[in-house]
Amino acid sequence: MARPMLIAGNWKMNGTRAEAADFLSKLRGLKPDARPGRQLLICPPATLIGEMAKPLAASGVLVGGQNCHPGVNGAFTGDISAGMLRDLGSSHVILGHSERRAMHGETDQLVHVKAMAARRHGLIPIICVGETLAQREDGQAEAVVREQVRTSVPDGIEGDALVVAYEPVWAIGTGRAATLDDIATMHHIIREALAGKSDGAACGLIIYGGSVKPNNAAEILSLDLVGGALIGGASLDAGDFMAIADAT
Ligand code: PEP
Repeated sequence: MARPMLIAGNWKMNGTRAEAADFLSKLRGLKPDARPGRQLLICPPATLIGEMAKPLAASGVLVGGQNCHPGVNGAFTGDISAGMLRDLGSSHVILGHSERRAMHGETDQLVHVKAMAARRHGLIPIICVGETLAQREDGQAEAVVREQVRTSVPDGIEGDALVVAYEPVWAIGTGRAATLDDIATMHHIIREALAGKSDGAACGLIIYGGSVKPNNAAEILSLDLVGGALIGGASLDAGDFMAIADAT
């Protein structure tokens, strides 16, 4: 059976309990469980995962984290482990988002060990890769992404427990998605880079993120190698999120 498309929302540092309740009630009205071939996932701030896990599950929607620490527990003030995310009901964790790479100095090596920690606790890592505008303008985009995949994705990871999100940094939160040609080319390159790794990584799911909206989702999701979308801003609105999930 073909793997369902992953339609994942990244709420970033947005959402109070009241806003989450409002989102959940609107989402329920849009019957998110009636979407064959699409797996829906919301990654809210860690403060909301426990609260949202059950109501989302009742609607057939998964919940996930936005980051995790590579360790199990200990003196790491402010951090959250993969096991803790799992304990709250998470199925996935976003790792190496460009905002964490840029603002928290996360390296490919750190993303790699976080992904291994995620797998040890039964979480599916969504490993984000993508070039900056300067790297693209310098003709480095493909080399940068190849290297990020080579170094961030653990060898031997099972393909059905791996998601790689191609998120060009310049497309995130800007309203300017990558062109269909660029998305297709980069998905092909990521597929090749995964094939160069040992074992099952080759069949990991590859999704696109960067200004995915209801008005461009259908054309992006219809591309051959695109296995879903990682959605920032538009995922905060239940109607927009479901319009993207419904886009064909
Ligand atoms: C993101 O944060 O991963 C993202 C893709 O954001 P946006 O959809 O707002 O560009």
